Amino acid sequence: MELKDKKILVVGLARTGAAVARFLCECGARVTVSDSKGPETLGPFLSALSALEVTYELGGHGDDTFRSADLIVVSPGVPMDIAPLVLARNHGVPVISEIELAYQFIDAPIAAITGTNGKTTTTTLVGEIFRKCGFRTFVGGNIGNPLIDLVISGERTDRVVAEISSFQLEGIVDFRPRVAVLLNITEDHLDRYTSYQEYIDAKLRVFANQTASDFAVLNIDDPLVAASAGNLAAGVVPMSRLTVLEQGISYHNGIITFAWDGRLEQFPIDSFKLRGVHNIDNCMAALATTLLMGCPASAALKAVAGFSGLPHRMEFVASVNGVSYYNDSKGTNVGSVVKSLESFPGNITLIAGGKDKGGDYAPLAELVRERVRHLILLGEAKERIRTALGHCTDTILVESLEAAVAEAHRLAAPGDVVLFSPACSSFDMFRNYEVRGERFVEAVQSLVEEAE
Ligand code: ADP
Repeated sequence: MELKDKKILVVGLARTGAAVARFLCECGARVTVSDSKGPETLGPFLSALSALEVTYELGGHGDDTFRSADLIVVSPGVPMDIAPLVLARNHGVPVISEIELAYQFIDAPIAAITGTNGKTTTTTLVGEIFRKCGFRTFVGGNIGNPLIDLVISGERTDRVVAEISSFQLEGIVDFRPRVAVLLNITEDHLDRYTSYQEYIDAKLRVFANQTASDFAVLNIDDPLVAASAGNLAAGVVPMSRLTVLEQGISYHNGIITFAWDGRLEQFPIDSFKLRGVHNIDNCMAALATTLLMGCPASAALKAVAGFSGLPHRMEFVASVNGVSYYNDSKGTNVGSVVKSLESFPGNITLIAGGKDKGGDYAPLAELVRERVRHLILLGEAKERIRTALGHCTDTILVESLEAAVAEAHRLAAPGDVVLFSPACSSFDMFRNYEVRGERFVEAVQSLVEEAE
């Protein structure tokens, strides 16, 4: 891809936009950055670029800027359908996402992980396995550091692991992973897509450029994922926790079996530290990906057994008076809460609620009726959740996370589980899910101190 002297517009100036602008300047492009936010909120990113020759259009987007660009690179936080981007496309200006730009400069084989839930856990685990097997590995994408960072660094790598969101997939052209994983598809981000189908179609784009020499790892326990299998050019490697598969990767009686192309490997899960049924899926996806990309089974098993998971995802916090508290602040949609509830047989006090994303809470009803003794609701979504689930169990509304923890402490009995898995995003009351999870952990720590 020739960038020198090209007029390139970067839309959205946060961490990714700044890295993209830096890279484009280094390649000799004429770079403009456009952001709907004003300079007062973009301070750190503007300073990061201060030494570079960049033209800025801040506090709004101008049609001419978009129409006259040779290429537009869109940051992950910016919707692909905003009016100036539609206008540019109609004028024939190519519009791509950051992963597409980075892809054009990456030689190492790529493992791409997508799905509604489990992306970060699986991506991190794939990276750990590759490293354990001696590959120089870059882990990036939606996970905090953009792929373009690898290109800027000029470092040599053997494997790239990319966590890919549906938003990024909307802006790919050639992006072609050696192995693409689709973990699951459940409702999410309906505040950003006009329909569920549009969200599903965006996810399936991860397979669009694959050929018969690539692999698609598909969780066939998920009906929407399974339905996509017939239409793919890549070799489909099915994955299932519920059915034993002759070809693919599956789980039965405590053992994960990888059977592919005459190779048979088995992984007992009793040494794994990750908890929850969904993490069996994440481990299977990571094992299939890495075995297909050259890892020996013994080192892969060691890496999985040594991985204790990430904070805010079914993280065990403490036990207070015989009650176990789990922080699942990253459980930001209904699909993830389903899995978290399925991970405990019963006696759950569930703390949920936050910023509503317009989805349906009813799919939780059966599990709540079966396993949740007390449902404690907070945040903007509390009334909507009460309407959908209040009839299923004892339901209480509270005004703060601290009040929720205090109620849970009052209600839960020894042997019970208190699970904070909000089914909503955090932005109504917190800066992000990490801050929200830390506040939950602090509230639980106070209970521990009181109990001592
Ligand atoms: P993502 O990056 O896709 O948001 P994470 O690995 O950060 O995924 O996990 C987010 C939440 O999703 C976790 O807190 C957990 O509740 C749930 N989760 C994780 N893995 C899965 C999975 N394979 N299927 C369903 N839910 C999952």
